[in-house]
Amino acid sequence: MSFDIPTSHPRYHSLLFREKIVEGLHNHVVAEAGLFAHGRGESLDYFLGEITQDFGRRAARAAAARLLLARHPVISVNGNAAALVPQELVALAKAVNAPLEVNLFYRAPGREEAIEAVLKAAGAGEVYGVGEAASAEIPEITHGRRRVDPRGILIADVVLVPLEDGDRTEALVAMGKDVLTIDLNPLSRTAKKAHVTVVDNIVRALPIITEQALQLKALPRAAWEEAGGWDNGKNLAQALRFYSHRLADLALEAEG
Ligand code: ATP
Ligand code: MG
Repeated sequence: MSFDIPTSHPRYHSLLFREKIVEGLHNHVVAEAGLFAHGRGESLDYFLGEITQDFGRRAARAAAARLLLARHPVISVNGNAAALVPQELVALAKAVNAPLEVNLFYRAPGREEAIEAVLKAAGAGEVYGVGEAASAEIPEITHGRRRVDPRGILIADVVLVPLEDGDRTEALVAMGKDVLTIDLNPLSRTAKKAHVTVVDNIVRALPIITEQALQLKALPRAAWEEAGGWDNGKNLAQALRFYSHRLADLALEAEG
């Protein structure tokens, strides 16, 4: 990786993760469209202040609880997630005892295997959804975008689908699954259709979900059930209000 930005640079982290996405593009892990998705995320993170806000932390706890309560939890992995946070995905999978499944909007020869390799290098065991293993189909979405693993997402009751596309989220919801997502855009269809939306950057949100899961595991199941109770509309409204208030405050500041 040709990354030589000094750690003192004010945008160091943002530039580091951008570099990881570019590296992922060269390694066939990230699709070209993944660059645009990342840019959308970067701009929204700027508005969020590039820190986890309360509504994000609370949603992360609810998501952790639901993963623990699940019979068949699955963590879906796309190219951007694998490029940005492979170790963190593996850590969460271990904490909640859920398989990782490669689940791509753009399936292309070699991409699933490239993502599998990145996850294995980060310590993953078996990775679902690679090649012939993705043999089942989700109804209601167009070909190529609907293949899933019959051992994973097909039979899952709870799925975490970070940075997911709206059509596919909708299809998973229609299949009766409890859908959890991480999405910086509270206005995306995924954010609105999912049951729990963590409005935060995946690079910060995943470790928080893992930390919350480890904390909850030490508590009785009743505590998981309490933490899993969630009103997603209310949470999205809080996120939207936060964005609008913060921008209004920054406008005042700009006026001096
Ligand atoms: P939708 O299909 O849900 O209406 P979309 O077409 O705008 O949304 P997609 O490309 O399908 O977006 O999904 C990517 C989503 O992930 C976007 O909402 C984007 O803001 C968000 N995103 C991108 N990078 C990150 C990140 N690092 N952390 C969290 N969210 C991110
Ligand atoms: Mg989309």
